Amino acid sequence: MTMRMPLCCSGALLAASVACTPASAPGTAATPAEAKAFLDQANQTQLKFGILGNRAGWVAQNFITDDTAAVNARISQEAIEATVKLAKDATKYDTLALPDAERRQMNVLKTSLVMVTPADPKEAEELTGIMSRLEAAYGTGKWCKDAGKPDACLNIDQITEIMAGSRDEKRLREVWEGWHTIAPPMKKDYARFVELSNKGAKELGFADTGAMWRVKYDMPPDAFAKELDRLWTQVQPLYLKLHAYVRMKLREKYGDVVPEKGPIPAHLLGNIWAQEWQNVYPLVAPRAGDAGYSLDDILKQRKMSALDMVRAGERFYTSLGFDPLPPTFWERSLFVRPRDRDVVCHASAWDLDLEADVRIKMCINPTAEDFTTIHHELGHNFYQRAYMKQPVILRDSANDGFHEAVGDTISLSVTPEYLVKIGLLGSAPDASRDNALLLRMALERFAFLPFALVVDQWRWKVFSGEVTPAGYNKAWWDLRLKYQGVAPPTDRGEEFFDPAAKYHVPDNTPYMRYFLARILQFQFHRALSKAAGCTAPLHRCSIFESREAGQRLNAMLAMGMSKPWPDALEALTGSRQMDATAILDYFAPLSTWLDQQLAGKPAGW
Ligand SMILES: [Zn+2]
Repeated sequence: MTMRMPLCCSGALLAASVACTPASAPGTAATPAEAKAFLDQANQTQLKFGILGNRAGWVAQNFITDDTAAVNARISQEAIEATVKLAKDATKYDTLALPDAERRQMNVLKTSLVMVTPADPKEAEELTGIMSRLEAAYGTGKWCKDAGKPDACLNIDQITEIMAGSRDEKRLREVWEGWHTIAPPMKKDYARFVELSNKGAKELGFADTGAMWRVKYDMPPDAFAKELDRLWTQVQPLYLKLHAYVRMKLREKYGDVVPEKGPIPAHLLGNIWAQEWQNVYPLVAPRAGDAGYSLDDILKQRKMSALDMVRAGERFYTSLGFDPLPPTFWERSLFVRPRDRDVVCHASAWDLDLEADVRIKMCINPTAEDFTTIHHELGHNFYQRAYMKQPVILRDSANDGFHEAVGDTISLSVTPEYLVKIGLLGSAPDASRDNALLLRMALERFAFLPFALVVDQWRWKVFSGEVTPAGYNKAWWDLRLKYQGVAPPTDRGEEFFDPAAKYHVPDNTPYMRYFLARILQFQFHRALSKAAGCTAPLHRCSIFESREAGQRLNAMLAMGMSKPWPDALEALTGSRQMDATAILDYFAPLSTWLDQQLAGKPAGW
């Protein structure tokens, strides 16, 4: 459920060299007119590479061949180099007084980089080489139990399937340890990557790469870290209850391997990173643990086609007052897996010309999951269309958490009541099924919160030098224990490098956006539900057919990245502060139910 962003955005791994030249030489100070001309040209460049890059990416994913891959890689590299040059040139206007709108574009240009290679060409080349090695090491990572049988090696897809479905503790431990063997060979490269990327970040004026990532959030880096602590403090009490309940149930299943009071072993939560726990739902489900209806069955019985499902998704947005999708969306999107060629089926949303040529690319099956995902992906498309009137540089979400949050917000409105309204369900189940619905949702979206914090807490410490290579693994597991309350199945010394068994670490993709998206989506949902006049419990509210909610949503979407994110948040919610009380409101009935289940049993570890 990711989306491809235009190349100007922070999602791209920008790896070309940034030479650090001082601002204008003495006596040749830049003028406001030059700044304006520079931005005009920068917007044109971003538009040109945005369209080229999207087209090349679209064909590369829809027609997987060596040639489309080569064309795509070539254009990506050119786009990266162009963006790096713009970031560097923008520093020439650092001290110039500019209108807010122009200053905003300058800042976005300078902070759109995820990684900056040092000015020294040798070091730049070394860093680029390290990054390709790390990506390849993860991408081709396999666990081979028996070196003599290469066909029996397991890739991440197979590992994921076993972790989700197996209930054999020994097998789970073996597979967990097996996958983590891909990581230690990356340690040396990773440590050097940290040194070199920090050098590049310093040349652009940032303390280190982590500080460079944090500065994108429109507040001083330390203030942003404090914000995250505050949000975590809000959600921690409910997390402790959910953790204690799941631990109790897993102990019933697995016995003493799961301690009564300590951390949960990381291999027993249905996911190789223990990040989302919905796969253990059958082990922890309440009595009458089904939702009272099966959307999977309904879609199959009705023989609902992929096209029908997307039409239903579009109707959700038009019911809010958004214009229907353009004819090109229906002509150019991919909805079903082609029979005659390989495509990347992972669902994504695109905006090919950074204006109206929006599309989704999905291999849709008649399942509840895909039905919800369609609503999510279209959220990206409607966001993209809403901000197309902004300058190209600012055609993105308010911060990198907002794009995902918007799609997920809409998916929260796919309630039983909504399914009744669109004729898919006869009647909505009564409140007795709520705990089942909420527990399943909490295992996915709430259990994820501390993991989403840990990945970048660890990286920020690594980039700042607080954690050195001699302590990489200990720091990782200390954080996972502190926030998540999980522990590795066996001792993990520094001969291991467990963080790199998670894609985003070797791939160098920032992770805090996922934490923000999970907090924000409930805040958006609560504000929009209120605008829609919903008086039901929050988890039963759908904003379907509410023009008032649609207007609120559109007011934020249309801003794109033109203002600091608190302004965008305020346009939708009336508040300038992120607030985790909304996610707590949503799960309030579950919280009460968990108290009853725990009945005084220990929480915490
Ligand atoms: Zn998405």
